[in-house]
Amino acid sequence: MIPANYTLARGMARKVLKQYKIVEVPTDLQRICEAKGLEYVELDDPEELDGMLLELEDGTRVAMVNKAKSFVRGRFTLAHELGHIFLNHDKRDFYDAEVAREYGEDFPENAKPPKEQEADAFASELLIPMEQLKRFQGDLKSPDKLAGIFQVSRPAMAIAVANFFGSARNFN
Ligand SMILES: [Zn+2]
Repeated sequence: MIPANYTLARGMARKVLKQYKIVEVPTDLQRICEAKGLEYVELDDPEELDGMLLELEDGTRVAMVNKAKSFVRGRFTLAHELGHIFLNHDKRDFYDAEVAREYGEDFPENAKPPKEQEADAFASELLIPMEQLKRFQGDLKSPDKLAGIFQVSRPAMAIAVANFFGSARNFN
């Protein structure tokens, strides 16, 4: 199996942010979805998944984030799905609500298939761009506060902060 290409996945997320002129956090997922021809819907249904992409019978593609569930997890799920689209993963992988359920945020990253890891890396960079994180250097010790600012879950922010320190070390 080809290993996950994190550099490619993160680079693609930065390209998307640049292309759609997104320079503020929280990342405006609605703008990205609509630019990509997806209808953006915020659902309020406790019976549904936290976030997903689906294709209706008429071909309309809908991006959904469920407010009734964890909104920040829904945002991550949606950003992950966008990762599959922008990274041109095959279509079977595209509508992976089942996969998302199977490989949730708490699933060990290195145990996921490479494309899932790439979609997660894309989602992480899209929602927590390293460039933006630099602006909040003074708050790196307060992941709760940062999670609120970036509208991501605390675990997602903790991973990004760890990566930030990891890459900062590499440059020093
Ligand atoms: Zn996936």
